[in-house]
Amino acid sequence: MKVLKSRDKLDYHIRGLSDPKRDRLIMLDYDGTLAPFVVDRLKAYPYKGIPELLDAIIDSPKNRVVIVSGREAEEVRYLLGIEHKVEIFGAHGSERIMPDGSLKKDALPKEAEECFSEFEKWAAQKHLLPHLEHKHGSVAFHVRGLDDERAETLLHEAEEEMKHIVRGPLLEYKNFDGGIEIRVVGEDKGKVVGTLLNEVSEETLCFYFGDDLTDEDAFKALGDRGLSLLVRETFRPTNADVWIVPPHELKDWLTRFIITHE
Ligand SMILES: [Mg+2]
Repeated sequence: MKVLKSRDKLDYHIRGLSDPKRDRLIMLDYDGTLAPFVVDRLKAYPYKGIPELLDAIIDSPKNRVVIVSGREAEEVRYLLGIEHKVEIFGAHGSERIMPDGSLKKDALPKEAEECFSEFEKWAAQKHLLPHLEHKHGSVAFHVRGLDDERAETLLHEAEEEMKHIVRGPLLEYKNFDGGIEIRVVGEDKGKVVGTLLNEVSEETLCFYFGDDLTDEDAFKALGDRGLSLLVRETFRPTNADVWIVPPHELKDWLTRFIITHE
């Protein structure tokens, strides 16, 4: 673990975990954080031991666990495969699986579906549909698993196409680790963190674990209200407070939520 900002802030949160009276909000990204990257996105299962740790954490009523992912929420629920029901924000927050298991989706502007279809047509013409992931609120173009040169060329072509078809203030395109995507403006992980912070008390200890560029919105939104942890094998510039390497240091951290000193 490497402290990137305030050592005092880290110590405060670690001390807080020993306080049996304090509730915790534990927000976690999925891909790259709880699960290693694999070429076949539909086989990105969690690191060994992670589902058991999450189940043990959720066992305590002090812990509220929320998964925050760019994937569709149902896909995360399936891949995660834990025993307990878990809250999941999917598609960067435009979908939400509630604690009771029900699924809610935000209404989207009609421009969004038109734009996503236009991009899909472009991909079909170029025989690139296998790279496409069409979700609620976004369409992602993946290049993971390709050689570097091919990945760079395709990313460039996709970005050029996006430049043409993404118009107006409602939509934007952004890079993520392993691709580029068109999204509805305002539907991001920062908004998810804002929503969750409004739902917990001021005494709740808050944590956010993430690896991707899209998690930076969450780190910023959390700010001084909680501890942000960049979960990555290699370091990159970040707004997070701490850098940890998965899966070993992540498991160490998750274990802290289970242990209480009473
Ligand atoms: Mg990720």
